[in-house]
Amino acid sequence: MNRRDFLSHTGAVGLSAQAQAIAVEGPRYAGKPALRITDIQPFLVGLGGRNYCFVKVMTDQGIHGFGEAYSVGPDEATVATIRDFKHWLVGKDPRNVEYLWAVMYQFTRFPGGAVINAAISGIEHALWDIAGKAAGLPVYMLLGGKCREKVRVYQSAGGATPAELAASSQRLVSKYGYTALKMAPYPPGSSTLPYNAVTRAAAERAQAAREAVGPDVDLGFDVHATLFEPIRAFQIAEALKPARPFFIEEPLRMENVDALAELKRKIEIPLATGECLYTKFEFREILAKQAADIVQPDVCLAGGIMELKKIAAMAEAHYVVVAPHNPMGPLATMVNVHFAASTPNFLILEYHPDDTSPRKDMVKDPILVKDGYLPIPDKPGWGYEVNEEAFKHYPPKPWHRGFAFRSDGSPDFI
Ligand SMILES: [Mg+2]
Repeated sequence: MNRRDFLSHTGAVGLSAQAQAIAVEGPRYAGKPALRITDIQPFLVGLGGRNYCFVKVMTDQGIHGFGEAYSVGPDEATVATIRDFKHWLVGKDPRNVEYLWAVMYQFTRFPGGAVINAAISGIEHALWDIAGKAAGLPVYMLLGGKCREKVRVYQSAGGATPAELAASSQRLVSKYGYTALKMAPYPPGSSTLPYNAVTRAAAERAQAAREAVGPDVDLGFDVHATLFEPIRAFQIAEALKPARPFFIEEPLRMENVDALAELKRKIEIPLATGECLYTKFEFREILAKQAADIVQPDVCLAGGIMELKKIAAMAEAHYVVVAPHNPMGPLATMVNVHFAASTPNFLILEYHPDDTSPRKDMVKDPILVKDGYLPIPDKPGWGYEVNEEAFKHYPPKPWHRGFAFRSDGSPDFI
């Protein structure tokens, strides 16, 4: 094969000489030839109330990798974006992850929102899975190795009333051994309640959960960015304080960074935020303005596992810890476990158990919690294989997150 044919085959034609060299001359492993991406396939799978978007990247050496993109609602848009990116990536060495990330991020030109960044994230996971399998190493070994032996997780408790919330909290702690839980401070339908009723209900719910689990289980409270006015967030924090919260999450709109910073200085509860933010560039302002004690990037939305590593490094330099947002599927949990394994300032991971269908059907050997912690796999790549056969049993459905209206009929935040 002459050089022109070789460059054409790898998709490097049209690039500068330097860019051609990077695109073509990927790292070698075990004397085998360079890997090349041959195809990228998105799979939309309907599980319960939302879709899960899996991404499969295939190579000419028979190695494939899987990733998971965030399900943002208009999920067909994420699928279309992944199919679009495929044409930019076929022919490239999948192990040049930084290069391929920059291709996707920079060549879209306009700053990406939820759809673009979800697509980039899902593809990026699959590239790391391939890199790990090609090297014969778990992904965390390519990211600095292990700095812990297991990964602390928490689950969210639910319940419309304080008694129901207390029962749910107790059940989760006794079933899974969690040392931390999260919950909504508000009762259902709080958009239509007078504000004093909401604040009083938050205090009652927090107290009921605290009494149910005892003094030492950590309890996080997720306001879900539903508050608009900073003073209301301060009032909720005051109402929750007697329960000694682990953190208060998204007490204000995510873009109101100055108000978050001011709130953090006033309340006596650790402030967590970040699930709606993209890439290192959006976390820069949160950290520079000291607007959070805990950052919560989502590995399926913020740009992928390397992007989370970069956000975590920036956070570490600001004495801030990382508690990844993780409401998506079993593969997202696996990717997060590799992040947690290799990140010194990791705090705790959000978790949904994979011990029942349909979640457990998505992977061949689901990762399971034991005494509130997840084990760290030692097999190559993510260490767990996705069960592609199961996808067809769960067709995708249009969904949305729900609507909430105030008592005067105006739309509230959800
Ligand atoms: Mg949240």
